[in-house]
Amino acid sequence: MRAEVAFSEAEIDEGRRLFAGNWSFLSAASSIESLPRARGLEVAFAGRSNVGKSSLINALTGRKALARTSNTPGRTQELIFFGASNSLTLVDLPGYGYAAAGKSKVAAWTRLIHDYLRGRAALGRVYVLIDARHGVKAVDETMLNELGKAAVSHQIVLTKCDQVSETDLVARVEQTASAMRNRPAAFPELIVTSARTGAGIPQLRAAIARLLAERFR
Ligand code: GDP
Repeated sequence: MRAEVAFSEAEIDEGRRLFAGNWSFLSAASSIESLPRARGLEVAFAGRSNVGKSSLINALTGRKALARTSNTPGRTQELIFFGASNSLTLVDLPGYGYAAAGKSKVAAWTRLIHDYLRGRAALGRVYVLIDARHGVKAVDETMLNELGKAAVSHQIVLTKCDQVSETDLVARVEQTASAMRNRPAAFPELIVTSARTGAGIPQLRAAIARLLAERFR
């Protein structure tokens, strides 16, 4: 079984067009009460702090500083919404797994994510970002378990693939994909990316375009 998703040229082109618009910040929500009204399809990005989530969102949207990079542990935990002039909204979920995060902070994060995942009909998929060097860690398992319990479709995106050798990458993809096969709400295939080199960015755009087409067919 292939562990990476494949796309046709037409799908790659569809993805390119979907992201060609002018992406901007729409709103931020630090509680479930302050979520913006959902419109169209939402696709969210989750990941351990420093996994490369901001860099990936910036690479996808072709904006240098749309998502703020190098989040600090003290930063308010917010869901951040980005849009362009189409029916897709990107949602940057607060990073998790800060070594220094206290119990109350972790509890607040869990509550916010839990409520968002369960109450958002517009949410089509969550991309869970995993550092290609490190693989799935215990903190990622917590996120994956939340997604499974909420029955939200999700898929792994490996980040920073420029930092590992081709051999290690193949092994990482296989190992991660096989761990995901035990999770019914998880997409079995991965998307392998590097915000630095641009590898996999056209494929991730195409994956989101495919999802949008499926949702509004
Ligand atoms: P976030 O905390 O998940 O939003 O992560 P950032 O996007 O701020 O990235 C964390 C660090 O990883 C920064 O120093 C980035 O420059 C670096 N980084 C992000 N993406 C890549 C990548 O694809 N390749 C490499 N080599 N470094 C990356």
